[in-house]
Amino acid sequence: MRGRSKGSKRGKGASKAAATPPSEDLALQPVAPVLGVPSQAPKTPPPAYVTPQVPFPRPVTPPNASHKGGDAIAPIIVSPIKPRARRAPAIARMSDSEVWDMADEEIIAASFSNTRSLTYAHYNISIERVYATGGAKEKIVFIFTCKTDPDNHAAQKRARGNTAAGTGNLVATEGACLKRHGLSRPGATQSQSLPYSEALHHVLIALRCAASTRPFDMILDKWYQAEVEMLRPGTKLPHPVTVSRDLKRLYAGMSTTISNFFIVRFC
Ligand SMILES: [Zn+2]
Repeated sequence: MRGRSKGSKRGKGASKAAATPPSEDLALQPVAPVLGVPSQAPKTPPPAYVTPQVPFPRPVTPPNASHKGGDAIAPIIVSPIKPRARRAPAIARMSDSEVWDMADEEIIAASFSNTRSLTYAHYNISIERVYATGGAKEKIVFIFTCKTDPDNHAAQKRARGNTAAGTGNLVATEGACLKRHGLSRPGATQSQSLPYSEALHHVLIALRCAASTRPFDMILDKWYQAEVEMLRPGTKLPHPVTVSRDLKRLYAGMSTTISNFFIVRFC
């Protein structure tokens, strides 16, 4: 292997030497050694293997729409560019001392403009600038004051720099505050209990069959019937044929409602 490669190199060098007469310039170039001449060490070692010099393929610009030629290049289909994730405003990433002299509203807006928690709506947010004993700027603290019952719902505080702090305390004290007033959190999962009516029961059964892909005759399952009897004794269950009919009526009725919705929204 080694001998063969050496031989081929030598032969190549010989043919090169024959094609171009030796000159003084050649002595300066790292060419392959000529037969009989002591070899000079090349400045850089030859590569271990030959790498083909194929140019890297470049992106092709698709022809414009007016080009009707048969050899038109199909345009490259690329994924749509995804919008960059929303980042907190620059002010929110600044240190307390950097934003110290800014308006309170500006600092608050920067910190809470991207928040998704609904609990902040329960509070008025204000700012307190805390100074150290020597008068140096120590930290900025957010104060969350209950909008509805600040006397009984103690204000919550959170250092501006404590970005890792979640909304746990805010949510918990808000929940307690709302409970005192017999309210529930806006946006919180409301109780799904519905008042019983035969019609609504039929709707739920039909929706269960359609949305949860249950057979209409699941209504005949004795264990299901036992469960219904346990929860509401004496409840009459519809026949599977009735369930099927209800579903068709629901589909027709909901189609009209949905089409009306789109007519109102977009026409
Ligand atoms: Zn409150």
